[in-house]
Amino acid sequence: MSATPSSLPPFDPGDPLGIDDLLTDEDRAVRATVRQWAADRVLPQIADWYERGELPDIRELARELGAIGALGMSLTGYGCAGASHVQYGLACLELEAADSGIRSLVSVQGSLAMYAIWRFGSEEQKQRWLPGMASGEIIGCFGLTEPDHGSDPASMRTHARREGSDWVLTGRKMWITNGSVAGVAVVWAHTDDGIRGFAVPTDSPGFSAPEIKHKWSLRASVTSELVLDEVRLPADAVLPGAKGLGAPLRCLGQARYGIVWGAMGAARTCFETAVDYARTREQFGRPIGGFQLTQAKLADMALELHKGVLLAHHLGRRCDAGTLRPEQISFGKLNNVREAIEICRTSRTILGANGISLEYPVMRHATNLESVLTYEGTAEMHQLVLGKALTGLDAFR
Ligand SMILES: Cc1cc2nc3c(=O)[nH]c(=O)nc-3n(C[C@H](O)[C@H](O)[C@H](O)COP(=O)(O)OP(=O)(O)OC[C@H]3O[C@@H](n4cnc5c(N)ncnc54)[C@H](O)[C@@H]3O)c2cc1C
Repeated sequence: MSATPSSLPPFDPGDPLGIDDLLTDEDRAVRATVRQWAADRVLPQIADWYERGELPDIRELARELGAIGALGMSLTGYGCAGASHVQYGLACLELEAADSGIRSLVSVQGSLAMYAIWRFGSEEQKQRWLPGMASGEIIGCFGLTEPDHGSDPASMRTHARREGSDWVLTGRKMWITNGSVAGVAVVWAHTDDGIRGFAVPTDSPGFSAPEIKHKWSLRASVTSELVLDEVRLPADAVLPGAKGLGAPLRCLGQARYGIVWGAMGAARTCFETAVDYARTREQFGRPIGGFQLTQAKLADMALELHKGVLLAHHLGRRCDAGTLRPEQISFGKLNNVREAIEICRTSRTILGANGISLEYPVMRHATNLESVLTYEGTAEMHQLVLGKALTGLDAFR
């Protein structure tokens, strides 16, 4: 409080709290690389991909993301970048500032499929899959959700039985990101020994992954069903370290952590779009940004955007320190996705009719975030996680 206003750093509308001061030069370099990649490769085409409901260049995009170290970014060894969790978070934010579908591609590849193999796989499984996944040559998916079992995955019907030394998998998975382009599917199934995870080569006989069409959210993302019809796998397809539901939940924790950051990327884009629009769009003879009601909206959006980014940084530092608890990830995912949706919707109102057009990114982000609110644990599941942690009472059943 002793500094005089003239000796203070100038107010930065893009970073009003000076959160960038928390970053190292390396953090800034990672952020700049990912932001530039998204500006070059995603932004010029995303509205078209979204309108068509396709991600046509997904294999090429995956290889490029691999080349900039974004796949399995915070994992170590096997060609992974070994970046900090804060750096991974910054990457998620920049990717989702372009589109949640691109961030989903990276989250599922790195935090779900690669992490499952990295954390629970045998050395042979890691050698077989991880280098190709880190480079983007092999795309991975993660099959937990089923048509009748989403929030309650313990009730899954997919099962694996032993036949001699082989495993035979049967069941269906639903809403699986990257499913029909994946070379390896991490599939969770009941066994006589509880829930186990399997690294399933997607060219295995009996495996198919029809793409899910007619989505009105995450349209620039591949989402598929997985059909496992007596898929026979050798004994070494099971992930030896994954026993019980805790294993997939641990993977989900990694992906949720990325969403805490990513959601603020979508929010940032919508906020910036609203500010630009409000400064130039004139009604009643002056820019709408000069009206108090618009300024109130922008001020409230800025509060939640930068509080959310600060929260992501806080959780990122705890993650790097090894002290981040699952309840804290729930806190971040619940808050930041909810606030990001609110920011996008408010931005939509500031843009008036233009807010519903694909010429602007706002409606695309808002509809994407409806999926983000639901996947990796619905908002209600995270409320229940926090409710249980706060009261000691389990309200899930
Ligand atoms: C675009 C997209 C991509 C996805 N990608 C993947 C993926 O790669 N891999 C994967 O495994 N899954 C994926 N999912 C699935 C996602 O994780 C599930 O949709 C999510 O877990 C919710 O399951 P559900 O849709 O079956 O909803 P349900 O579980 O049927 O829930 C419906 C509603 O009931 C509420 N509810 C349920 N139980 C309770 C309760 N006890 N108390 C209060 N409310 C309750 C929920 O919160 C929700 O509001 C994806 C989903 C989408 C939309």
